[in-house]
Amino acid sequence: MSPLLEALRSAGLRLTPQRLAIVECFAADETHSTAQELYERLRDRFPTMSVATVYNTLSALGSIGHCRQLDMGGPCRFDPNVAPHDHAVCERCGAIRDVELARRTEQARELPGFEVARVERIYRGICAHCAAVA
Ligand SMILES: [Zn+2]
Ligand SMILES: [Zn+2]
Repeated sequence: MSPLLEALRSAGLRLTPQRLAIVECFAADETHSTAQELYERLRDRFPTMSVATVYNTLSALGSIGHCRQLDMGGPCRFDPNVAPHDHAVCERCGAIRDVELARRTEQARELPGFEVARVERIYRGICAHCAAVA
């Protein structure tokens, strides 16, 4: 059993076929999907599933540290990569990709009078795909 499923089970969630599929789909997702997008990918297989089921499953994963919720200004996005990293967002198609911290060009400075837990950066621009079709 994958660590994600193990974690869900120890958090007390029953591993229904729907939840298994949601976790599988989410774990393989590198596009930082919304709950709605994951739902649409699974809807054919589970016609009785609701968006709320997707959302609740991802929230449960988040509460045990296996899912990071991203606020990019639109609907909440979910990231299976919980290691510290930044994001690059395409302003044309909205694609979001991971940026390793090693790529940061300058170190984040300490803030006097503030205990910094983490620094999250968003790089905005045009992705390679959109640049190619422009
Ligand atoms: Zn793009
Ligand atoms: Zn990410």
